[in-house]
Amino acid sequence: MTHEEPQEARPEAQADTAPGGTAPAPAPVTVLGLGAMGTALAEAFLAAGHPTTVWNRTPGKAEPLVGRGAVAAPSPEAAITAGGPIVACVLDYDALSSVLSGQEAALSGRTLVNLTSGSPEQARAFADRAAGIGLHYLDGAIMITPPGIGGPDASVLYSGAPEVLARHRTVLAALGEPVDLGPDAGVAGLYDTALLGLMWSALSGWLHGVALVGADGVRAADFTPIATRWLSGAVAGFVGRYAAQTDTRTYPGDDASLDVHLAAMEHLLHASRARGIDTTLPEVFADQVRRAVAAGHGGDSYARLIEVIAK
Ligand code: NAP
Repeated sequence: MTHEEPQEARPEAQADTAPGGTAPAPAPVTVLGLGAMGTALAEAFLAAGHPTTVWNRTPGKAEPLVGRGAVAAPSPEAAITAGGPIVACVLDYDALSSVLSGQEAALSGRTLVNLTSGSPEQARAFADRAAGIGLHYLDGAIMITPPGIGGPDASVLYSGAPEVLARHRTVLAALGEPVDLGPDAGVAGLYDTALLGLMWSALSGWLHGVALVGADGVRAADFTPIATRWLSGAVAGFVGRYAAQTDTRTYPGDDASLDVHLAAMEHLLHASRARGIDTTLPEVFADQVRRAVAAGHGGDSYARLIEVIAK
């Protein structure tokens, strides 16, 4: 990554020397991919005043953005060379590779911020390929759905070339709070997959609860405020305490032991079966607890299950 960024330097230098000598003018940016997420990204850049160039495989999706001030590039090459960092958000890494295929010369010396979802291994392989053509590469994972982009709950995890995030932090902050996870390009995707697993566990747990109380006539709208308070307060507190236990591999059962958890899980299983509700989810965590208890750890905290899960 020793190449300079000659064509990006011009607009960004202009931005730093804005007339009046006060705040610099918003820097230019390019968005590749205008699906639901790419469109939201481009809208956020435009809303923050950044001159925004857009490109999409299906050109019609650019039209509403052009109506709001974006410039539609006629080709990937024109988009890549428009100036400013290139923010890519297409379906997957194969799609991105096909968009960038044959563009190595145009990409050399540029900056690519890849917000396309993928595995840590794909991100690391892409970073290696980028280094081989002198492309400055930052990988990212968007932790919000399109309607939340640019809003107070939006954050984007970044990992890869640290100088890229430092140089373009102001532009990227238009999307959501930038979270720097360091120089290994695979780490943003690693956190992303782990956090999605956490989200699915929480969503399915909540839906199981909705089904359970719903069987006795309780509306989801009545159950949910109690559930979200439980999640954001008590459950978040358990996680914070157990993080230290998993790191030190010591699991004092001084709050609630696995024996106590297992007894409560049997109640959940019983109540679910009595109402004809699918028990796949509670069987999974009851199975993990039973194995830990059978191995003699019934007096330990819930964090002991890391030994079952991580093996
Ligand atoms: P989407 O609405 O289905 O859009 C997919 C985009 O990829 C479109 O621009 C599509 O172009 C393009 N594309 C697909 N195959 C292509 C190919 N072979 N060559 C060129 N372009 C291709 O999906 P999305 O919701 O915007 O998601 C985009 C990325 O953001 C994904 O990696 C997703 O995991 C990630 N993400 C999404 C969310 C979310 O809530 N939606 C949240 C976090 C991360 P066409 O318009 O021409 O089909």
